[in-house]
Amino acid sequence: RKGSVIVTGASSGLGLATAKALAETGKWHVIMACRDFLKAERAAKSAGMNKENYTVMHLDLASLDSVRQFVRNFQQSNMPLDVLVCNAAVYQPNARQPSFTADGFELGVGVNHLGHFLLARLLLDDLNKSEYPSRRLIIVGSITGNTNTVAGNVPPKADLGDLRGLAGGLNGLNSSAMINGGTFIGAKAYKDSKVCNMLTMQEFHRRYHEETGITFASLYPGCIADTQLFRHHIPEFRFLFPLFQKYVTKGFVSEEESGKRLAQVVSDPSLTKSGVYWSWNKNSASFENQLSQEASDPEKARRVWEISEKLVGLA
Ligand code: NDP
Repeated sequence: RKGSVIVTGASSGLGLATAKALAETGKWHVIMACRDFLKAERAAKSAGMNKENYTVMHLDLASLDSVRQFVRNFQQSNMPLDVLVCNAAVYQPNARQPSFTADGFELGVGVNHLGHFLLARLLLDDLNKSEYPSRRLIIVGSITGNTNTVAGNVPPKADLGDLRGLAGGLNGLNSSAMINGGTFIGAKAYKDSKVCNMLTMQEFHRRYHEETGITFASLYPGCIADTQLFRHHIPEFRFLFPLFQKYVTKGFVSEEESGKRLAQVVSDPSLTKSGVYWSWNKNSASFENQLSQEASDPEKARRVWEISEKLVGLA
């Protein structure tokens, strides 16, 4: 049978390119988990995806009710789950004030981390039940959360601090809207959420890899400087950033190339190692990359996991 993969945020950018790359092989059925049904259907159509290779299902990661409803809908569909890709994200670099999810969490960490955390936890059993030869849970990370890199050192840097804002509910009322308890900075909220994504992948690996055999992985797909991720940035930035990445840093990758990379992490028989953060070199060859000290701190990973469990109602 075909492999069955859920990709969140498959209506745009990296998620769409990955869905397309997998669907084109004819070996995968892609469940496109998206908040905007019509946009996702249109995106799949204009990418030339064949209807028999995908299903759009509604998922709004800014609502824990929606995450739970998505899981119920998926389970009722009786489709198997072989790979889950947590890809969707929001990035609000220019926001002066935080905005919030339906459950009252700061939006960046609420969507990128907490929504995916609940989704992945609720679907772990389904992954475990699959008889597919290589079951995988992939959470998209980023270089920007890794302060051991040049890109990760552009201020404001990621820093989860002692997690006091997260522990307080990240709601901007009786706690800060930032994980470290500091003043709200949109770009930092995004980077912090990516650190949570990478820590979560490693904590999944420590808790469940041996028992289940599931591969847990994260990746930095390269700088896809022209996706909709930058939609909230000023026009000048959106014009110059791709050029800067193409001609100065030379770190630019196209949506198509990044989609191939993530599709590789989903399906390549050689990328089954668990607990790994994948990156690609200039020749587009994958390698196991080093995470920053904070993004690989096991004690922080455990505490983020435990606090997140409480926030999403699992503990
Ligand atoms: P896009 O903005 O193009 O895609 C983001 C996707 O997430 C869209 O499908 C969007 O849906 C979806 N999304 C946003 N909010 C929600 C929500 N509340 N519920 C469900 N889905 C939602 O960005 P990219 O493709 O660039 O980003 C994809 C991933 O790649 C992210 O995890 C990002 O951190 C990562 N990444 C990107 C890099 C880059 O250079 N672009 C570099 C490194 C990592 P909609 O279409 O409805 O808006």
